Amino acid sequence: MPQTLSEPMGGALSSAAAMAALDLLGVDEVTRQLLLRPDHVYSAQLAITTDAGREVSLPAWRVQHSNARGPYKGGLRFHPDVDLDEVTTLASLMSVKTAVVGIPLGGAKGGVRVDGRNLSAAERERVARAYVRAFGEYLGPTKDIPAPDVNTDGATMAWVLDEYERLIGHSAPGVTTGKPLGMFGSQGRETATSLGGKYVLDELLDHLNIRKRPLTVAIQGAGNVGGGLARLMAEDDRFQVVAISDTHSGVYRSAGLDVPDVLQHKTKTGSVENAEYSHNITNSELLTLPVDVLVLAALENQVTATNAAEMEAKIVLELANHPVTSEADDILSQRNVLVVPDILANAGGVVVSYFEWVQNQQNFYWPETEVHQRLHQIMHTAFADVVRTASAHNVDLRAGAYVVGFSRMLTALRWRGVIH
Ligand code: NAD
Repeated sequence: MPQTLSEPMGGALSSAAAMAALDLLGVDEVTRQLLLRPDHVYSAQLAITTDAGREVSLPAWRVQHSNARGPYKGGLRFHPDVDLDEVTTLASLMSVKTAVVGIPLGGAKGGVRVDGRNLSAAERERVARAYVRAFGEYLGPTKDIPAPDVNTDGATMAWVLDEYERLIGHSAPGVTTGKPLGMFGSQGRETATSLGGKYVLDELLDHLNIRKRPLTVAIQGAGNVGGGLARLMAEDDRFQVVAISDTHSGVYRSAGLDVPDVLQHKTKTGSVENAEYSHNITNSELLTLPVDVLVLAALENQVTATNAAEMEAKIVLELANHPVTSEADDILSQRNVLVVPDILANAGGVVVSYFEWVQNQQNFYWPETEVHQRLHQIMHTAFADVVRTASAHNVDLRAGAYVVGFSRMLTALRWRGVIH
């Protein structure tokens, strides 16, 4: 049985930008605690048998931050560094993110401390099913809806769905999102985070009237999100992707990478390292390249007080969650580097997850063009809301996004009579 724990504070929500937003909204101390602390924290040990027949016990968590605006919603990651603090931070970011894009869902996150990359498919399936057996009573299409995150994928979500349906004894495809198309998934989900990020970047360039062509781009992370954006940018002559990296290495070519070629090299060899017509660089070198746009699409805490002063990009697009530490954020802000915050920039994934959930609830499925059109509309509106709010309060985009998100959460809490 999972245990309920007393919870730590979510790191990202105690950042200067989040605090500035709460000050601007005149939120008192009691309400602050309601907004910042998770509703529920569950933990469990998952007992798994490896392919070699060894019994292992894996720490696992589900943190439900807020359901004021709809069912809890958030990814599930299998990573060796996962801990309760990280899951809590990511859960709180989800609540604000769903509010920023105005979709009727709350925020949650799940994690299992295991190196997902080294699991066989059979082991990954055992971990996913054990996770549902541990936390299943807290999940459900109208309770809490997991999705893929680092080292989990559509197949993982199919196993989560199947185990959940065995548990409850009837069909409930809306219990997860990011499922394969053949298992009640949505068209357009795989590319949704990358496409949503690109829509936001396009809006920003128009808003700032940036006409330079092409803009040079470095992308940290060559997975679903980073690789997906690289592909989209390679098809758009306004951008030239000059560098991309993965856990092992990065590759750079000042005249522009052949993106499909580099990604094919990664599929073949497991890394972008030594891709043709480029030279290898380290991840830290990638972050400080002289480019117009730096895209962060790997993990948390990549830009820190140590490397922020050396970054040369003028625009940073946060496709990973919390990739810039709060200290680094202050340094970038002083240096007039424009950071497009995670709670806006990477929200495309949860928006199309929402579409998937709607389709599952209706048992009626949309064509990809409809998914893209609706995603574009939502990202356009969210960008406009954030820019308008940031400019009205004379704050940066991150603080502006927090004001938008928090004020929507506060409205729901008021209607519920939780606060007055
Ligand atoms: P993924 O596992 O497919 O890819 C992650 C990539 O990052 C891989 O290429 C990996 O090699 C690279 N990487 C890992 N550690 C690194 C490091 N220290 N330095 C450089 N590269 C490193 O995951 P993903 O789905 O692409 O997600 C990437 C990020 O985006 C995560 O932070 C995730 O939480 C966030 N995110 C994902 C979605 C989504 O829809 N998948 C939505 C919102 C946010």
